[in-house]
Parts: sequence; C-alpha cells; structure tokens
Amino acid sequence: MKLLEDRILRDGLVMEGDVLKVDGFLNHQMDVILLEEMGKEFLRLYNDCGVNKILTIEASGIGIACFTAQAFGCPLVFAKKSKTRNIAGDVYSVDVVSYTHGNVSHVIVSRNYLLPTDRVLIVDDFLANGAALGGLIELCGQAGATVVGAGIAIEKAYQPGGKLIRDRGIRVESLARVAAMDPVSGVTFC
Ligand code: 5GP
Repeated sequence: MKLLEDRILRDGLVMEGDVLKVDGFLNHQMDVILLEEMGKEFLRLYNDCGVNKILTIEASGIGIACFTAQAFGCPLVFAKKSKTRNIAGDVYSVDVVSYTHGNVSHVIVSRNYLLPTDRVLIVDDFLANGAALGGLIELCGQAGATVVGAGIAIEKAYQPGGKLIRDRGIRVESLARVAAMDPVSGVTFC
C-alpha cells in the first residue's frame, strides 16, 4: 500500500534492535485518515471471505483493528494482557513473548466473544517473529473459530514470522513489507 510505504519513509524511525518506530502516525499519535484507508484495504483483500469478527492484541493493534472492523461492519475483539491467571475457565488464554519488551505476556479472550461459528480476521500492526500472530491463532483454535487470515500493517519480511505462519497454510496479507532496514540507510520495501 503506497500510502503506508510513503508514510513510513517520511516519518518512520529505525531504532537499534530491529525496531521501526511509527509513533507519529500509528502507535502513539494516530493518523485516523490513514488508519481508515488501511481498514478499507483489508476489506478489499478479504471482502469475499465471510469475516464476522476482527481479532487483535492490545495495545498497538487496536487502532488499525477498529477501522478494519468499521469497514467490515463487524465487532472487534482485542486479546487482553492479563496480570493474573484465570482459574474460572471463562477465558481462552495463551502466553506470548513480546518482541519489543522481551517479556512473556499472559493473553486472554473471554469465551463469550470468540465462538466456534466465528470467521476471524486477525489484525496487527507488525509481524516480526510471529509470536503475537501465533498466539492469536492459538486463541482462535481454542475457541474452534475459523481463522480466515491475517491483516498486518507492517511485515518485516526479513524476519521469520511471515514464512512460519504462511507455511501453516494461513493467509497473511501485509500492507507494507520491509525487505531490510537499519538506522543509517533507513527502510527498503520488498
Ligand atoms: P512478533 O510477535 O511477530 O515477533 O512481533 C509482533 C509484535 O511486536 C507486534 O504486535 C508489535 O507490537 C511488536 N513489534 C514487532 N516489531 C516491531 C517494530 O519494528 N516496531 C514496533 N513499533 N513494534 C514491533
């Protein structure tokens, strides 16, 4: 998606540790006009797939996922990072290693909001090693829901997540695919 690639080139900052900072338009301050266009693009890509639910993980995926849900006219569910382990059995849960913080989060979704009849489009801001996306797929599996595919804003294609998930037969569509990046020469796209 040229609009997103141009914005990354203009306002993205490549940090040490393989982190692309997009705080100016996606992750902290949000350009809602851009986010709306991204939501519409995911609708174009997955229009004929019977999607009835959008699933993301808090916090940085929520903005894009909101606009995607609006485009599809369906609910958005965000998996919550929980400090306590639930023993009541009313949630699906999985542990996810955070790419940016390195810690493990216990992530939950209420059984009320993810159903065996759901056809889920998973949305997230970044795809790197695939831990976040893998965790969300696992939650859908626990619920017996169908994963229609994933809509990713920025895939760092030189990292293993995209191949890992696609090799499992899951459709992954990314609006910008980064081929390489470093703090000196910046970002190049696939
Ligand atoms: P993965 O689980 O695929 O390794 O990483 C995806 C998650 O880590 C995303 O939900 C995102 O929040 C975060 N992440 C991964 N790479 C980057 C990056 O380069 N920049 C930012 N801002 N977040 C990233």
